[in-house]
Amino acid sequence: MKVKRNVEMTVWERLYIPEILRGMGITSRHFFLNLLGFLPGFRPEGKKRRIFTVYYPEERFDIPVAYRGMPVLVEENGEERCVACGLCEVACPADCIYILPGEKAGKKDRYPEIFELDVARCVVCGFCEEVCPKEAIVMSDELEIAEYDRSKMLLDKEKLKRPAYQLGKRLAFVKEIY
Ligand code: SF4
Ligand code: SF4
Repeated sequence: MKVKRNVEMTVWERLYIPEILRGMGITSRHFFLNLLGFLPGFRPEGKKRRIFTVYYPEERFDIPVAYRGMPVLVEENGEERCVACGLCEVACPADCIYILPGEKAGKKDRYPEIFELDVARCVVCGFCEEVCPKEAIVMSDELEIAEYDRSKMLLDKEKLKRPAYQLGKRLAFVKEIY
């Protein structure tokens, strides 16, 4: 689809009033069609209404797997997958990840003693997910992250961890695209 940048207006369009009336006609058509959508005879069998309107927050969209919501840490057997390599911290353009690596006796991999993510600064670019070699941080479908107090948006690893089974679809998607 091409957008015409220099559109010559016709005389009819230059009269202005007809175009306003046309716009109001289109708006009114949608308004009355939407109203009709609630009447039993006009809606499909078994549906509450014909119109496409989501009554948020009682109703929710089916969020597509490609959607990028708040980044979260993948948890397996009670532990995060993260090995504190720091790649996500370096790749983050908003500088909102802070990691302090730690080591546990008898364990080969390091782990994040501290893993903090300032969701207030996150621009949900997905770079952290893209660079992570362990698929340990992924973009979830969580979108209700607003708070009145910004300090509540600085999340530690306990608040960031989500069980792997909850993130199954996204993990499969990440495997496919990267
Ligand atoms: S999604 Fe982007 S901005 Fe947010 S933590 Fe990851 S890399 Fe940083
Ligand atoms: S890139 Fe992955 S493994 Fe490395 S520190 Fe970030 S979340 Fe952890």
